[in-house]
Amino acid sequence: MHKLLARQLKKLQLEDASPPDPERWPQLLKQIEASYEAADQDRYTLERSLTISSEEMQVLYQRQKSSYEARLFAILQALPDILFLFDEDGRYIEIMSGDEQQLYQDKDKLIGKTLHEILPPEEAAFYYGILNEALKTNQLVIVDYESTVQSGQQTFEGRAIPADYTVDGKRTVVFLATDITERKQSEIRGRLITTVFENSREGMVILDQDLKVVSVNEAFCKIADLEMHTALGQKPRFIDDLMATRTGTEILYSLHNTDYWMGEIVGKKQDGMSYPLWLTLNAVKDDRGQLTYYVALLTDVSDIKRSQQELEYVATHDFLTNLPNRVLFHDRLQQAIARTMRSHSTGALFFLDLDRFKNVNDNLGHHVGDDLLKQVAARLQKVCRASDTLARLGGDEFTLIVDGLTDTSVLDKIAEKVLQVFKEPFRLDDYKLEISVSIGISVFPKDSADVNELIKHADTAMYSAKESGRNTYRYYTQELATNAFEYFAMEIALKKALEREEFFLVYQPQYNIVTEQMIGVEALIRWRHPDMGILAPGVFIHIAEYSGKIEALGEWVIREACEQCRRWDAEGLPAFTVSLNLSRKQLVLPSLYRDVKNILEGTQLTGDRLEFEITESAILEQKEIAYNNLKELQKMGIKMAIDDFGTGYSSMVNLKQFPLSRLKIDRSFVRDVSRDQNDEAIIRATIALGKSFNLDIIAEGVETEEQRDFLLKEGCHEVQGYLYSKPVLPDAISELISLRKIVGN
Ligand code: C2E
Ligand code: CA
Ligand code: CA
Repeated sequence: MHKLLARQLKKLQLEDASPPDPERWPQLLKQIEASYEAADQDRYTLERSLTISSEEMQVLYQRQKSSYEARLFAILQALPDILFLFDEDGRYIEIMSGDEQQLYQDKDKLIGKTLHEILPPEEAAFYYGILNEALKTNQLVIVDYESTVQSGQQTFEGRAIPADYTVDGKRTVVFLATDITERKQSEIRGRLITTVFENSREGMVILDQDLKVVSVNEAFCKIADLEMHTALGQKPRFIDDLMATRTGTEILYSLHNTDYWMGEIVGKKQDGMSYPLWLTLNAVKDDRGQLTYYVALLTDVSDIKRSQQELEYVATHDFLTNLPNRVLFHDRLQQAIARTMRSHSTGALFFLDLDRFKNVNDNLGHHVGDDLLKQVAARLQKVCRASDTLARLGGDEFTLIVDGLTDTSVLDKIAEKVLQVFKEPFRLDDYKLEISVSIGISVFPKDSADVNELIKHADTAMYSAKESGRNTYRYYTQELATNAFEYFAMEIALKKALEREEFFLVYQPQYNIVTEQMIGVEALIRWRHPDMGILAPGVFIHIAEYSGKIEALGEWVIREACEQCRRWDAEGLPAFTVSLNLSRKQLVLPSLYRDVKNILEGTQLTGDRLEFEITESAILEQKEIAYNNLKELQKMGIKMAIDDFGTGYSSMVNLKQFPLSRLKIDRSFVRDVSRDQNDEAIIRATIALGKSFNLDIIAEGVETEEQRDFLLKEGCHEVQGYLYSKPVLPDAISELISLRKIVGN
């Protein structure tokens, strides 16, 4: 086009020689522009349209030409690529790059030189080969290659294009190098994702907005009983089935509100057998927040469920007598209380404790003691109705729950019947043993409608029976109790305690018994009560929870622990984790994670220094909020442990989806190690379960070497307990570490 215009100008110069009028320039400029466009279509139109003076034309042409070159240059400068022009000998004629940084050498040093003069022989031969091929075939040649530039080793795509241009009679080739490192990497990532997707044992499916299959893997087809080739574009049948249920409604609701849902659904095998599946659904949105896809993950959890059920049985039954244990007992008592409240009837809790059982164990040995307990259980079972719950709480403590009574006078009869059971001596090995029992009775809902209080009351009554000379029963009475008055006084004092700064934290070290290193501490709250002295949390936490004070108290605990951590850091102690107890009330505060984030930012502590201990039931109470909190906390690097594991009822399957890092075996199980095989079995099962979920396991309440050795043998390597250290003040922790002292050894 330049040539055309130049010819045009020459012609015009001859015809017209009047000077250019600056006023006409804008108009002329437009004309020229129009002619540029027109030139491509019709060169004669251009000739005719140029009715301007040659001088004007010359000026305009210069302007236009320079602006055209400037534009061209600007375009080339904007390209992220590097453009080389080589002649047929491989000589650098021109180099252009928007990003001069990309060139590994100064441009001026290259121009005029050949590839062989600049590059190592092998590399030069490589590029030269490409140029040659482009010239030989007179076609575009594309190659991928690695090259080291300023920013390091990168992958390039090179395009060699024979140019319609000669330099000193030599043909030329344009070589365009494009950095495709990122594209290559994302290709690799894409391939990896595809491989994972295809080979995963978890079923995965991507659905569009109408829940039709966009992509699906083999495992999913197997689980959902689909054919891969017919599944695409279809709505899977199991989705239809699911949507017809109540769960389906719940899923849609949850997807709409929180973009995800997870939970257990029922799968059907081809033979009609149903089995448990765990489904996770996530809505995927684009940059503008528009729903684009759903991603579903499906796992067959039959195996986990089965081992869960086994664990549930050992966790709820007593190994020795097969009676319900304390966990199941709690649950049954709760249910009995609820039933009596509904039906306006009465129930009672009998607390049985064998008299002088310790003597039997100590003098005749454990196996005789065990045998006795079995016989007692069998005899008691005979006098119970099917609807009663007889349980063994551990050791020689039994409980009996009866409910649905209209008349409390039968309680005497039941108590008498129980005492009768012991009239006949027990035959053990070669011995004939006379054993008696002391019974305490609390009545619900008269004495209380709270499980723990009823147990406490029955226990109090049992002690009163012992004091009355054993082999008898006693009812709980008001006189045995501390009155409710105390509770209110406590509540009032608690409200002021935060402002008065009456709380403080003590810290109990946690040890790895294999490496004998202190690995962290658990923060435990104490209250310096103005009248009652130092109070343990067992006395006031539940009051704080009832009275709505726990949120503020909990926040204080987190901040105080973080600040203490910083003080330890300032002393130069090595970093260790601080575990904090979270109340169930805190866990369901939607603002929890933001509060924690603020505290971390305020104290400049990193999240990995913290662990939150939560109970299983607390997480499951309001799954969605708890899940969200835990996910967000996990993002900050905070670890999560299940506290008091084994005392609750939750199924591990439910816990599977939560971001947990550790299980804490409750101290009630540790306490009875070597005394109660049932507890030992629970510990074993818990350790196995924890390991199968890839969780660390810590045992609390370790008081004896026997307990420690048992845990070590069973593969639980982290412990906490009086054997090592009681909870202590922060300074004692510094001292402990600086002395590198391992307490208890
Ligand atoms: P937990 O989380 O099960 O804490 C362990 C309790 O066991 C602590 O009692 C600790 O002093 C005690 N302990 C530790 N080692 C041994 C041992 O070898 N033998 C025996 N017999 N006991 C041992 P503490 O400090 O009285 O705390 C009781 C409960 O109060 C804690 O139980 C926890 O649930 C709650 N709690 C403590 N601090 C806080 C807190 O800051 N916030 C909340 N929400 N709850 C807290
Ligand atoms: Ca704890
Ligand atoms: Ca605990």
